[in-house]
Amino acid sequence: MKNLSDYKEEINKCSKCGLCQSVCPIYKLTGNDCAVSRGKFVMLEGVLKGDLKLNKNINKYLDMCLKCGKCSEFCPSGIDVCKIFEAAKYEYAKNTFLGKFIFFLESKFVFGNILKFFKFINKPKSLAKSKDLMQTPLKILYFKGCAENIFPQTYKLLAKIPNIKIIEKDFDCCGIPFLSSGNLNRYEEVKEYNLKLINEADFDYILTDCASCESTLKGYSNLSEDKFISLGELLVKLNVKFKFEEPLKITFHKPCHLKNADFVKSLFENCENVDYIEMKNFDECCGFAGEFALKNRKISLDISKNKAQNIAQTGAGFVITTCPSCILGLKQGLKTTKKSVKVLTLSEFLMKAKR
Ligand code: SF4
Ligand code: SF4
Repeated sequence: MKNLSDYKEEINKCSKCGLCQSVCPIYKLTGNDCAVSRGKFVMLEGVLKGDLKLNKNINKYLDMCLKCGKCSEFCPSGIDVCKIFEAAKYEYAKNTFLGKFIFFLESKFVFGNILKFFKFINKPKSLAKSKDLMQTPLKILYFKGCAENIFPQTYKLLAKIPNIKIIEKDFDCCGIPFLSSGNLNRYEEVKEYNLKLINEADFDYILTDCASCESTLKGYSNLSEDKFISLGELLVKLNVKFKFEEPLKITFHKPCHLKNADFVKSLFENCENVDYIEMKNFDECCGFAGEFALKNRKISLDISKNKAQNIAQTGAGFVITTCPSCILGLKQGLKTTKKSVKVLTLSEFLMKAKR
């Protein structure tokens, strides 16, 4: 696990060109340089030189980040911005009462046992037996995220897909909430545990139905990106068709953590009676980002409102996405419009199909 000081060289790579400002959803809204990576790096440089204290004020700006990674994708110096902010958050939180309390809530003892309880009460029947298996089915290692453990939906859809063999393991949380809070020890703990289960398994693909889980798992070391498949990609790969009884007009919100949304058009073309309309800026952040929405209420709502306006412009009755946190962001934005648009996960939507 790296400390903030281990990122000194990386932080110094920032040329202060300011290009990150043009893509940061928060900077675009607030015009505040401390909200974007350039401004945060200026503060962290001061901390590393000993000129500034890593205090509440600096932490407030570290919290003012959606972890969307848009600035990293755009940065000419190729800086992995989120990793640096996580290390700085850890440095701050580990020494505060609130930080220690949050780390306790996220511990194996509290969070881990709550998750175990939901896994127990929502335990589905074995998926592997419910399939019409061919001689060489696709071996799918299913990473069931926390949201699916608490509100199960996807396993019902997976049970209907032919020619796949689902391999289930008792995975822990992917670790994204711990990265957000700066609880890096807990992140390392779940990472080691999940990696062990992944390395022991025999599979063709790791399937996730949550964009945030997929992006976090891809951040574990030693896992090839080619080994991952999202639910949408799997359905397109297997050319699975769906038929809806009533004509439906839908749109899709691309979560920031969903790396590849190429499947969207092909998937909805395979849905009879479904009219897919792409919204303006379909890949712009929904504004929620977990604890960001709690700590930055106004900014979160303003970003969500912009998103909701783009959704409303399509005239769609449904907006579909693949991240539980985005579901909350889309709902909070749509509440501010008079439009009645249902927000559904991809699995929830496809389960509405007659076949
Ligand atoms: S784009 Fe990269 S190098 Fe330029 S200011 Fe932003 S973080 Fe620094
Ligand atoms: S990760 Fe996203 S919200 Fe955070 S500084 Fe970069 S562009 Fe802005």
